[in-house]
Amino acid sequence: MEIFHDIQKLRQSLDTKRLEGKNIGFVPTMGYLHQGHLSLIKSSAKENDVTVLSIYVNPTQFAPNEDLDNYPRDLENDTKIAEEAGADIIFIPNNKMMYIDNHVTYVNVHELTDNLCGLSRPTHFQGVTTIVTKLFNIVQPKRAYFGQKDAQQAIIIKRMVKDLNIPVDIVVCPIIREHDGLAMSSRNTYLNQQERSEATILNESLQKAKLLIEAGERDSKVIKNTIESMINSKPSANIDYISIVSQETLKDITTIKGSILIAIAVKMGNTRLIDNIQMEV
Ligand code: AMP
Repeated sequence: MEIFHDIQKLRQSLDTKRLEGKNIGFVPTMGYLHQGHLSLIKSSAKENDVTVLSIYVNPTQFAPNEDLDNYPRDLENDTKIAEEAGADIIFIPNNKMMYIDNHVTYVNVHELTDNLCGLSRPTHFQGVTTIVTKLFNIVQPKRAYFGQKDAQQAIIIKRMVKDLNIPVDIVVCPIIREHDGLAMSSRNTYLNQQERSEATILNESLQKAKLLIEAGERDSKVIKNTIESMINSKPSANIDYISIVSQETLKDITTIKGSILIAIAVKMGNTRLIDNIQMEV
């Protein structure tokens, strides 16, 4: 496995591999890798000749009051487990390289960013789409792997590559969970014991919603109220949003029908967690 910190050197290496006819798979992350990230690396390693992993805590997707400075980092362990999972190249750039002085160009996807996490994190997705575009231009992968855990992000990136004719296939991989159902996240490490044990309520409430819908409930309000009262029964929980949206438009729906996404964001203490479930009704 090779590690690159420099854009030009990474490009040269990947140009050579492309000339040899090799397909590049790409997994962008912010590091502090867990099984969720590793599942993306494994999928890429299976489907491509070369798997590139990027580790970069991108400052432009954090608001000033968010956890940029405290975001967990462990490059030594990340490189070890990424290699075991099948990564061939790790790209670890720094801020100076990714945002040269006087950087003024940003990528914005409209409408899909207006709801869900876009409401409470209004500058977040501009940061994500800008860094992902830059990384796509640097790595020029054939396929790029994203997690369903960040459902809105995956839908936005898919639309962005379609709208901007970026020649990359977006592969969305399932949510990997802890044994008790909590969706894996680098941020789970912030949770204290009580918050961690209460955090299972996110997945539990989504599973309950699924059962209600499978039993015939079609009123979004009823489903949302059920999720709300389950989450509010936990003292550490503070709901940011509970939304039921169309997977196509990400707009709220009142009657449950078609391809839907139930997405929730909840603060457990100071830690904001997200989870979701997709259904075809
Ligand atoms: P992050 O390092 O949080 O930016 O995540 C990098 C990629 O890993 C994103 O595409 C995430 O959606 C994906 N990811 C994070 N957590 C999980 C999980 N529990 N299961 C599957 N994919 C995940």
